[in-house]
Amino acid sequence: MSLHQMKINDRGHLEIGDCDTVELARQYGTPLYVYDEMKIRQNARRFLLAFQQSGCSFQVAYASKAFSCIAMAELAEEENLSLDVVSGGELYTALKAGFPAERIHFHGNNKSEKELRMALDAEIGCFVVDNFFELELLHDLAREYQREVKILLRLTPGIEAHTHKYITTGQDDSKFGFNVKNNHALIAIKESLNKPYFHLSGVHFHIGSQIFDVHGFVQAIRMIRKHLDHVHEETGYEVEVLNVGGGFGIQYTEEDHPASIENYIQTITSEVKSEWEKRGLKFPEIWVEPGRSLVGNAAITLYRVGAIKDIPGIRKYVSVDGGMTDNIRPALYQAKYHAVLANRAGESPHEEVAIAGKCCESGDILVRNIHLPKVNSGDLLALFSTGAYGYSMASNYNRLPRPAVVFVKNGKSRIVIKRETYEDLIQNDRRKQVFAY
Ligand SMILES: *Cc1c(COP(=O)(O)O)cnc(C)c1O
Repeated sequence: MSLHQMKINDRGHLEIGDCDTVELARQYGTPLYVYDEMKIRQNARRFLLAFQQSGCSFQVAYASKAFSCIAMAELAEEENLSLDVVSGGELYTALKAGFPAERIHFHGNNKSEKELRMALDAEIGCFVVDNFFELELLHDLAREYQREVKILLRLTPGIEAHTHKYITTGQDDSKFGFNVKNNHALIAIKESLNKPYFHLSGVHFHIGSQIFDVHGFVQAIRMIRKHLDHVHEETGYEVEVLNVGGGFGIQYTEEDHPASIENYIQTITSEVKSEWEKRGLKFPEIWVEPGRSLVGNAAITLYRVGAIKDIPGIRKYVSVDGGMTDNIRPALYQAKYHAVLANRAGESPHEEVAIAGKCCESGDILVRNIHLPKVNSGDLLALFSTGAYGYSMASNYNRLPRPAVVFVKNGKSRIVIKRETYEDLIQNDRRKQVFAY
């Protein structure tokens, strides 16, 4: 839920998808991720409409790492999205959801032979090849399968998007992709063109995540086009597909001012059109890979407030029943979040507090400074914009069971991932056996 669309009912409770959050917490327990299904659908439709209006051919591939589960893959299928996966597990989830294999793209800098075979068996639509090792391995497998495989090559354009260093990926010193500057990209393109079991559909780049400024995309497109000119001179090759990655930013707090979905797509499509037109080339199909911008602002996390510790003159800690186990982003990259008291959402701020998680780490702080009404134990806290990289990065640290996830729509709710039980936590543990070794 984005900050300015907060709905409060006449009981003073926060609502999402026309559901009362206090009721949701009562019904499903806390912590609880709640996704507004229509918000995800609207985000998807905004991407598709913006592309349709540009007149370009396109694919919008949901980067499933942002939030992967059967229900999400079903929704992506219904909204005519393609799907990016980066592991056997994400691929398995998509296939189990009945997602059409030809719309699945496989990413990652270290796909194992087993994962590649799984994807070949499923006959997925495209492999985004990341390095020379994979180029050889995948081609050997394609020969074994006696099948032409569609690939994109992931290039590293040497662009640094202005975002946190752990989430920039387009710079030269990166574990991802073939570098443009040192000629690895050209060599990889030549090798791909010479391999009989590959069909090189085009190139891919991804310059980072939580990017607010459209200019990074413009720069990267120009840089890649220049390189493609060089490739064209050397080989005569032209791309059919240009995949510009994801990374479109969303609003977490009032300090965040990302461009709109329409603005990103309009900028990207015009830049591609103008660069290609200058050269008299046929426009490529443009692919984007939004993760965060499809699901991030569609969800909130509900927590129950427990212990409150006031250190006079220093800080007041309000502890909740989740934390870094369901949202690692504040601990991992100082991510900022906005929160409200969901059961008293209409009340004015009264005090500044820190919202602490319950894990045994001093860094387990969800929000360092936030103004809330006077907080009491038992209050319900809603953290906003937790739909991306929340559940998908969740862990069982301190043996906390992972929360449930519900989808809400038109006043109705449904479980899409059930809460883990203590039994789930020990299901793979084995007791000592006297004669085991
Ligand atoms: C992570 C990633 C994405 C999605 O990034 P968001 O910031 O969630 O939009 C897209 N493409 C690639 C290659 C990625 O690694």
